[in-house]
Formats: sequence, structure tokens, C-alpha cells
Amino acid sequence: MLLRQEYVKLQKKLAETEKRCTLLAAQANKESSSESFISRLLAIVADLYEQEQYSDLKIKVGDRHISAHKFVLAARSDSWSLANLSSTKELDLSDANPEVTMTMLRWIYTDELEFREDDVFLTELMKLANRFQLQLLRERCEKGVMSLVNVRNCIRFYQTAEELNASTLMNYCAEIIASHWDDLRKEDFSSMSAQLLYKMIKSKTEYPLHKAIKVEREDVVFLYLIEMDSQLPGKLNEADHNGDLALDLALSRRLESIATTLVSHKADVDMVDKNGWSLLHKGIQRGNCLLQRAAGAGNEAAALFLASNGAHVNHRNKWGETPLHTACRHGLANLTAELLQQGANPNLQTEEALPLPKEAASLTSLADNIYLQTPLHMAIAYNHPDVVSVILEQKANALHATNNLQIIPDFSLKDSRDQTVLGLALWSGMHTIAAQLLGSGASINDTMSDGQTLLHMAIQRQDSKSALFLLEHQADINVRTRDGETALQLAIRNQLPLVVDAICTRGADMSVPDEKGNPPLWLALANSLEDIASTLVRHGCDATCWGPGPGGCLQTLLHRAIDENNEPTACFLIRSGCDVNSPRQPGTNGEGEEEARDGQTPLHLAASWGLEETVQCLLEFGANVNAQDAEGRTPIHVAISSQHGVIIQLLVSHPDIHLNVRDRQGLTPFACAMTFKNNKSAEAILKRESGAAEQVDNKGRNFLHVAVQNSDIESVLFLISVHANVNSRVQDASKLTPLHLAVQAGSEMIVRNLLLAGAKVNELTKHRQTALHLAAQQDLPTICSVLLENGVDFAAVDENGNNALHLAVMHGRLNNIRVLLTECTVDAEAFNLRGQSPLHILGQYGKENAAAIFDLFLECMPEYPLDKPDADGSTVLLLAYMKGNANLCRAIVRSGARLGVNNNQGVNIFNYQVATKQLLFRLLDMLSKEPPWCDGSYCYECTAKFGVTTRKHHCRHCGRLLCHKCSTKEIPIIKFDLNKPVRVCNICFDVLTLGGVS
Ligand SMILES: [Zn+2]
Ligand SMILES: [Zn+2]
Repeated sequence: MLLRQEYVKLQKKLAETEKRCTLLAAQANKESSSESFISRLLAIVADLYEQEQYSDLKIKVGDRHISAHKFVLAARSDSWSLANLSSTKELDLSDANPEVTMTMLRWIYTDELEFREDDVFLTELMKLANRFQLQLLRERCEKGVMSLVNVRNCIRFYQTAEELNASTLMNYCAEIIASHWDDLRKEDFSSMSAQLLYKMIKSKTEYPLHKAIKVEREDVVFLYLIEMDSQLPGKLNEADHNGDLALDLALSRRLESIATTLVSHKADVDMVDKNGWSLLHKGIQRGNCLLQRAAGAGNEAAALFLASNGAHVNHRNKWGETPLHTACRHGLANLTAELLQQGANPNLQTEEALPLPKEAASLTSLADNIYLQTPLHMAIAYNHPDVVSVILEQKANALHATNNLQIIPDFSLKDSRDQTVLGLALWSGMHTIAAQLLGSGASINDTMSDGQTLLHMAIQRQDSKSALFLLEHQADINVRTRDGETALQLAIRNQLPLVVDAICTRGADMSVPDEKGNPPLWLALANSLEDIASTLVRHGCDATCWGPGPGGCLQTLLHRAIDENNEPTACFLIRSGCDVNSPRQPGTNGEGEEEARDGQTPLHLAASWGLEETVQCLLEFGANVNAQDAEGRTPIHVAISSQHGVIIQLLVSHPDIHLNVRDRQGLTPFACAMTFKNNKSAEAILKRESGAAEQVDNKGRNFLHVAVQNSDIESVLFLISVHANVNSRVQDASKLTPLHLAVQAGSEMIVRNLLLAGAKVNELTKHRQTALHLAAQQDLPTICSVLLENGVDFAAVDENGNNALHLAVMHGRLNNIRVLLTECTVDAEAFNLRGQSPLHILGQYGKENAAAIFDLFLECMPEYPLDKPDADGSTVLLLAYMKGNANLCRAIVRSGARLGVNNNQGVNIFNYQVATKQLLFRLLDMLSKEPPWCDGSYCYECTAKFGVTTRKHHCRHCGRLLCHKCSTKEIPIIKFDLNKPVRVCNICFDVLTLGGVS
């Protein structure tokens, strides 16, 4: 462009230079009159422009009349020669543009030309120059125009140039046209004549026919056909360098008239391109672009044109697609009908997936990378229900028509994804079409290569709508998948409640277990699908459902739910009316271990696991609260053993519970609570059943008795804490109270706690003994103290009239005696029913420590009457002597007791029959001072009655009362400071003379 402008500028400069050269030449040759004359003449002529002077001609320019001069015009052009204009007065140029005309006139007079960047103006000027044979002006115009030529106006200038025979401009334009040939549009050629255009096309392209069609000039096409007549139809089927066919170009531009012309000249309607696309394919294909959907009808028309002009309707391209596929893919219903009418085969399947444009891929993933599609697959995949209807109608018509060549669509054909058209329609959500397909004979129960039915697939896709559709249309619900799953199991697994409902409504077997043995109801519950579970139950599904359990035993779903601690499931089953009372059972051949025989009801199991909600639910729904398992245990036994407080509370407060049921070990629930030291439950049980703690064992002992006897302080405290009765007696012959037992057991701690808890301190045994009596008999000084502190009646006597001191002495309990003698005012001289004081008891029962006890007595009671006889008249000395208790005798004698006192049978220590008198001798020998004299009516030795003749005498050594005969000897007793002979008895005489060792 710049170059061209540069060129034009140079041209202009050249013209000016030439003119100046002429002027200079004129001036330089002043000598030459002729040269000077020329330049003067040119100046005069220039001055005459538009001047009246010398004017001999008027020129009409527009509405104006310009004054002109014939000789000037004649000098410029032959057409204005003086001869031609001789009779002319006026020249009419009003038909031309006035401005252009004025420019021309000015140039004629002055040789001056004003260029304007206006191609129309210049063209006009050029035409005018041509008209009046102004060669110089035209040449200058041509050069001026060339600067303005471009792609858009080059054809117009070419035409003008040709018209004006302006070869320079024409060649220049032709060059531009040639270099921009492919950019030229049909509008650019619209004004060009057919002849000229054809000529130009022929000179510029190898394929004139294609170009003629591209610029939509049927007249040019005709010229081509006429010229090529001899080479037809071959030339019509040539492809251009783009591989395009003339007929295809015509069809693609919807130039039906040209297409018709081509076909009538035998263009081949079945030509195929390098990809195997036939014209028909391509005709249909042009509906491809979504943006051109609206234009689809036009393309359909093109294809209809081909179809009805005998194109092969079953041609397949390299992907195996027939025109019918393409028509179906693009939703061309009319074309589909026409193709079928023309014998298109609706059962051909594509061989390879079509490379899809991006917008189509996003349109439907169903179409992506699939092959083996029938046209009907295509129509459905691309969502063209009207096309589907056409095919279905065709099938109906073909079936009813006789003698029909149309091929009946096969609905069982599957695409590369194993989809039938019915499946495809369903997955595309085209249920109306699916219904139509079924109505037209599609099979609802076809299985895929993996054995699945459409129903299975719908469920697996979680496509409830399709599944329900299939069920409504009576799809077979009993077909299993290759894995053996039923439709019901699948529907549950895919969590489709409506589908489950529909399948159940159709009467599916709700008991078929899956491969793991889980029945449908369990599948639903295990996945927390309560709505589905409810549906199953509503349809009568068995909520109990016996099945295999641990070790091959039989169990219900409830057992299983409880075992898995799945409370929601357990409660659901209970509310659904399952068996709430049966324990597990052995299998049919006795399988199962402990579980099969433990006899535990669901309530036992739930109590054992601590499943509170489940227990509550079981109770609400009538589970037997008193059921006993194989061990005889009730649920509350189990709950207590497992220490589940809330459950214990629930069970205890149940109106029907029996709290006295014993298990095999004889334990009541209370006993159980004791065993597990469960205060709360024991208390709860006692509150409900006040006698629960009083239940006794086979020995008549209640829990407190046993605990006390076992010195089980913990249990005692436990029972005290739950307010067990601390005064109830053992129900046996002895009828002891807990306090008695505690004393017997010797537990100070228990005694104290029982007393603190309100045990009565003075309760008596059947032998009328108090706890103190009992304590006194054992070596329990502290307990004696405790009892005394707590106000025990120390004076109480038992059935033998013994007080506690009697018994303490009888059993030689020195420590007890000290407590009794020092911490209370027990009567130490009291006689029991046998007429014995504690000291007599000591004499009779005393053991090794008897002397110590005796000493203790005298220590505490120095004035104790040592010689007081018992009911038999025996003194403690006589009793001790008769028992042979030497130590005690010595202690008594040392304390100054009388020696020879007789009892009621006349027995005393002197006459008591013993093997040896050695003890007597020793006692006498040890006398250190004169003992108190005895008194009486008879001689202690010979029992002679004293009277007037028989006088009373005393042995001064032993103090006995004797007759004269029995105390004849006299001897001084040095140890008594009796230095003169005094009366002694025979024994004393021997002792005093022989010593204590005789
Ligand atoms: Zn005598
Ligand atoms: Zn004597």
C-alpha cells in the first residue's frame, strides 16, 4: 500500500516536472519566437478558463452554462474538432456529474488536475475522459485510481478498467484479485456479469465449478456446464484441493437449484470422502453444530434431497455410521422417516466410537466413547424423542404391512456398554420413550453379559425412578445377579426405600439371606436404614427370623443385635413385634456351645451387656422379667453381677418382678447384690422387698448372720448400710441374735458396729444368756468392756442362775473376771440355782489359773467370805480339795479359810477319801498362824454329839472342833509362838512331829 502511494506520488512529480521542463524550454529559447509563442499561448488559454471573452460555445454542466472556446476543446480532442463543432452553439454535458465535468474542463484549459481520494469521483472522471478521447487525462486518472484499489473495490475497478479499456489499471486490479482470490465473497462478484466472472474464474482457479458454486452464481455454473459438456459427468465429481465435491458445496450452501442442476447432469450422489462420509452423511452432519440447530431444517432438506434422489441409504463411514445413525444423532425426524422409507437398515451398529466435538461430549456422557450403537441408540443417547417415535412408528407399520421391504428394528441389540435401547432410554431419564419401547415389544427382562437385568442396573445406579418404572412394568423381581443377589437385597444395599416398597408390594420373598447369611431385614438395620426396615416389616417381614448363630446354634435377629450391642436395631426389632423371650437354641443337630444351652433370654443378654434402652424396650414389650436361665438366674441376677445400675433400677421397679427367686447356688438377687457389694441395688431391692435381707439359708441364717459368723466386717457394714435388721435371730434351735453371733465370733469391731446400728444389748439366748454371758465364757475382755459400756445388764442371770462372773470363773477367764470385778458392780457372792457363788464355781471348776483368780477376787474384795458354804454346805476349800487343786487350796488356806468345815454330808478335807493325805499334810504344814476355830454340835473327827459329858475342844493347830478323845495329844507349836504344849488332833500331831512329808 505504501509502495503504491509512493509510486503515485512519483507519477505526480513526474507530470509536474515534464510541464516545468516544457516551460523552461520555452523560456530558454527566447530567441525562438515559436517557443515563446507556445508558452504565451498556454498562458492565454489558461486565462480563458470560464471566461466570456472570445467564447463561441456554451457547455451545460448541471444547471449552469459555462462559457467555452471551441479552439481549446479542439486542441484537446479529435471528438471536438472544429469541423465537428462548427455548427454547435451549445455542448450538453448535464448528464455527467457537474463536479467531475468541471474538473475535466479545468484540466482542459489549465492542465491542472486536483486529485481526490474518492474512487467514485476518479472513476467518473476516467469514464468522462474516455468518452471524449482525452487520452492524457485518462492516463493520469488511471495512475491516481491505482492508489485507491483494494480487495473490496478491486473487482469494481477491474470492471471499469475493462469497460474503459484501461489496460494498466486492469492489469493492476487483476493482480490484486489474483492475490486475494480466496478472500473474495460472493457479494464482491454480484455486479459482475456471468461472462466476465467466468472468464476471471477460469483464469484464476483450477476448479472453476467449485468457485462458481462458492460465489453462488448459477449462471456461471451454466457457462461451465456448457463449456465442459463433453467432459461431463466426470468433471462434476472432482474434488477440489480441500477434498470438497461440487454437489456437497451446493448442498452445504443450500443451493438446491444448483444441486438439482448438478444431479440432472449426472453428478454422483454417492461419492464418499476420505473418511468414508457420503454426501448424505455430510448433509446430515451439518446439523452438528449446536449454533446451527435452527438451521437444521435446511440441512435436513439437503439430506432429504439426496435421499429422495437415490443416494445409498446404508453407506457406512469409517466409524460404521450410516446416514440413519447420523440423522438420529442430529434429531432429524423427517429424514429418519425418509431414510427408513428408502430402506435404511435400523439394525446396523457403529464399529468405532465417533470423535465427538467438545460441545457434544458435554451434552451427554452417555454418548462418549461408545460404539456398537444402532441408530435408535443414537437417537436416545442424543435425546431426540421425536426421532425415536419415528422409528417406533416405523416398526409398528412394518409389522402390520404385508409385503414390506422395510427392516424391523431389533430392540435387543446392545451397544459397546452392553446397553439395550431400553436401558439407554431409562438411564437417560426418557421414561416415556422407555414405555413406548416396551409397548413396541422391547424386552424388560433382557440380561446383560454380566447377568444383570435392567432392574438390577437401575437399582445399582440408585435410579429409583427407573427401578420403579421397571417394577410398574412387571420386571421380574426374582432374577438374581451373578453374585446371587436378589433385587430386594440390591435395593436395600443401595438404600432405596421406595424401590424396596415396590419390590415387597410385588410379593418378593423377604427371607432370602445374602451370601453372608444376612436376611434383608438385617441388611437394612445393620446399615441404619430404619425406613427400609419399617417397610419390610410393614410388608410382613418376620422380625424374629431364626438363623444360624455362634457355633452353629440357632438365634434370632434380636439375639444378634444385642450381642453386637446395636441398640437401635434391637429396639426396632422389639417394637416390630419380634419374639422377646426365647433364648438361643441348639442347631438341628445339636450344634452350638454354651450359648445354645445357657437359656439366656434377650433380657438376660441385654442386662449382661448393659444395654439400657434395649432393656427398657424389652420390658415395655412384655419380656418376662422373671425368666430363669440354665443357671436359674433371672435378668436381675445378671444385671447385678454385671453391675449395671440403671438396668437394676429398671428391673427392680418392674411391677411383676419376683425378688425372691434363687439361682442354682441358692442366691437371691439380694444375695447377689451382697456378693458384688452393690449397695445401691441391695437398697433398691430392700425398698421394694423389705424381707429380702431376711431370707435365710438352710441353717436358718440370714445374710447378716452369715456375715457375722464369718467375721466378714465388710458385708456386715454393707448390710448395716442398707438397713438390714440387726436384731433378727437365727432361725434354728439356738435363736441367736447377730450380737450373740458377733460375740461368739469374738469380733469387737462387729460388736461395736451392731450396737451402733441399734442391736439390742440385752437380748437373751434360749438359755437366757446375754451377750455378756457369752463374752464372759470366752477370753473376750474387751468385748465385755464394750458390752458394759453399752449398758448390758451385768446382773442378769441365765437359766442356771449364773451371772456373767459365774461363767467367767467357770471358764477360767481371768481377764474377763478382772473387767467384771473392776468395771461393774456385778454381785460376786451371788448364788446360782445350784447354790454356788462364783467362788464355789472356782473351787469346783478351777484350773491352773484358779489360784490367780482367787487372788484377784481377794485383791478386789479383801472381805470376801471365804468360808461361806454352797448349797451342799461345801466351802470353796473343800470343793478345791475334793478336786485336788493344790494351788487353789494353798491360796485359800494362806488366806485364812477355816480348814475342817463339814459339808452337809459330813465331808471335810480331813475325812475326804483320797489315795494319799499328802495334800492335807502339806496344807497343814504350811499353816503359819492359828486358823479361825470352827464351831458346831458334833466332833469334826468322830462326829460325837457334844453335850454335858462330851465337851468341845479345838485343835490349836488346825482349828477344828473336836471331842476330848480325838484331841488327846499336846505339843508346843513353835511357828505359832505357842511354846507350851497345846491340844492338837492326831493328824496335826503327826504333821507337827513328822513334818509335811510323811
Ligand atoms: Zn471326836
Ligand atoms: Zn488338828
